[in-house]
Amino acid sequence: MNIILLGPPGAGKGTQAQRLVERHGMKQLSTGDMLRAAVKAGTPVGLKAKAVMEAGELVSDEIVSALIGDELDAMPASQGAIFDGYPRTAPQAASLEQILESRGRKLDCVIELGVDEDALVERITGRYTCASCGKGYHDTFEKPVVEGTCDKCGSHEFKRRPDDNEQTVRTRMAEYRAKTAPILPIYEERGIVARVDGMADMDNVTAAIEAVLKPR
Ligand code: ADP
Ligand code: ADP
Ligand code: ZN
Repeated sequence: MNIILLGPPGAGKGTQAQRLVERHGMKQLSTGDMLRAAVKAGTPVGLKAKAVMEAGELVSDEIVSALIGDELDAMPASQGAIFDGYPRTAPQAASLEQILESRGRKLDCVIELGVDEDALVERITGRYTCASCGKGYHDTFEKPVVEGTCDKCGSHEFKRRPDDNEQTVRTRMAEYRAKTAPILPIYEERGIVARVDGMADMDNVTAAIEAVLKPR
């Protein structure tokens, strides 16, 4: 199964992707994570992407589509893919079709996480992750069971993203509205979009996604 999680920054794509990985052994393909790894490693892609990401603007379509193709090539053909944060523009959506087709894969479903914009700034500014295993947390909405200790791996180190500040979030939301939301109709015409209420509790969002995927 190959699915897209679509929604603005802070909608819960990463949170839900991590849960699908744990439950179904799918692979999360997050272009944001790939780009952050490239920035950290100082690769040519990372050097190009750093300032663009810090400004909350979009990295070039060619770069992200190449990253996605490489990741898919490294996966077993039988493993399902969760596209998290990709595609984000019409050209990326067109590239994804090609990328999937040439690898004998097909897109099964696009899950749109609907959220109130007002909630997104609070979600993003409170977001942090385990520095060791990457598990996501939130200052208010998802604290570790034992304060300062990762539930999943026991690490005591956490990190915050440099672009998770209010000003950058506004730019990222504007980019989403202008360039990403307009790709939805392509998928709606094909009848593969499922809308899920992203304002619900995390567990309820997970249950709603499971309900969408179950009959497939
Ligand atoms: P995205 O990947 O779409 O940018 P995340 O999954 O990283 O979003 O979620 C952003 C922040 O909001 C995280 O700190 C996460 O813990 C929190 N969060 C995710 N889903 C919910 C939810 N349904 N209710 C409240 N907070 C949530
Ligand atoms: P979020 O989870 O908050 O939506 P991401 O981690 O997906 O954020 O993306 C962080 C940043 O990385 C984006 O603001 C953008 O600069 C860049 N980026 C990630 N994915 C893409 C993509 N598919 N196309 C262009 N830029 C991307
Ligand atoms: Zn951890």
